[in-house]
Amino acid sequence: MKVELVNTGTELLLGDTINTNAAWIGQRLAALGIQVSRQTIVPDGAVIRTAISEAAQRADVVLVSGGLGPTNDDLTRESTAELLGLGMELNAEVMQHLNDYFSKRGKPVSLATQRQAMVPHGTVVMPNLFGTAPGLYFPAELSASQGWNAHIFLLPGPPRELKPMVESQVEPRLRTWLPDGMSRRVLYLKVTGVGESDIVEAVEKQLEAIPGLDLGYCIRNGDVDVRLAGPQVAVDEAAVIVRAALGDCIVSEDRRIIEEVIVQMLSDRGEWLATAESCTGGTIANRITDVSGASRVLGHGWVTYANEAKHQHLGVPMELIEAHGAVSEEVARAMAEGALKHSGADYALSVTGIAGPSGGTPEKPVGTVWIGLAAKNGETWAQKKFSPGSRDRFKLLTSQAALDMLRRRMLGIQPR
Ligand code: AMP
Ligand code: MG
Repeated sequence: MKVELVNTGTELLLGDTINTNAAWIGQRLAALGIQVSRQTIVPDGAVIRTAISEAAQRADVVLVSGGLGPTNDDLTRESTAELLGLGMELNAEVMQHLNDYFSKRGKPVSLATQRQAMVPHGTVVMPNLFGTAPGLYFPAELSASQGWNAHIFLLPGPPRELKPMVESQVEPRLRTWLPDGMSRRVLYLKVTGVGESDIVEAVEKQLEAIPGLDLGYCIRNGDVDVRLAGPQVAVDEAAVIVRAALGDCIVSEDRRIIEEVIVQMLSDRGEWLATAESCTGGTIANRITDVSGASRVLGHGWVTYANEAKHQHLGVPMELIEAHGAVSEEVARAMAEGALKHSGADYALSVTGIAGPSGGTPEKPVGTVWIGLAAKNGETWAQKKFSPGSRDRFKLLTSQAALDMLRRRMLGIQPR
């Protein structure tokens, strides 16, 4: 089944708005086993009609976003009706929805808004629960007049309106149109702590031998998504191979990122984390607090950048810092143990390193970092890592390594 996207809006071409609708729809359809075959962005105006007509000649399904609003640059509804030669008629249900929507907000329905209640003859209205403009579905019969056979969906531009409509109105229809036996599965194995080339080395030969398997890699923030797509049996067979080769480096099989996995694990176990960060400046705590539910697992996060701060707040002896330097195994351990003690948490992560570009020495070049992990039960871990590069990248990779150390500790697997 061929699906094309047409994303409308001058703001998308100006770069003022990022086309997140295309990315999101691409992922949703991939999960159904459909790969979007083409995506077109057009500005507001007459060209929308051309874009839809071209897409409808190639595709079985055309998903159009944007331009359903009340302003006079919102022309998608009218353009599509003209294209297919359909008259417009007032839809009572949409009118009722508009009346309810505005009366709830104590406002009158403007004339411009009323235009949204005009729908092309023969189309199916898709209710918009999060805004005013309804979506419209043009069943394939409506394009037969042009000699095409394409189902056309018009969707609102704002993502919070488009997403629920795609989930509740578009995906169920796509599912019924997917030919039997064509149903593909997609599985994402999120891998951390191993580079893309090592992953390729470890699994590619074996995976390439699986008939029908579509294999892909995507490097994300500090990890790699291994994408396995194809018939169920092929995906299952491939997953067994990847798990065997990379098992303890697999963070999730449901697209969750490591901080989400960690918050879930800590929360399930009723355990607490504390952080004591130097060179990462709070990145670890920031990543944890990006996850909803973080307040159940993170009580304390220190940023102890100066030596005095490491001493004053974490109780790291000044002599230790003088003897070994702030970037050292001893100090990483003392920071983690100090954070554990002062917070009462179950685990404490610490990092101390040289983000650069200045401050490196031959023994401790820029990019050197020590990560510590103290735990209520058991010995303290410390690991040296090396991530030269920009400060951003250093913070990202260091926080990733620290989070992975904690993940491994909680799972009872050795650090990498
Ligand atoms: P529209 O329905 O065309 O008036 O779009 C309304 C708003 O939705 C725009 O101002 C954008 O902020 C947002 N929007 C439209 N298209 C997209 C898109 N493809 N991706 C993300 N946001 C969009
Ligand atoms: Mg617009």
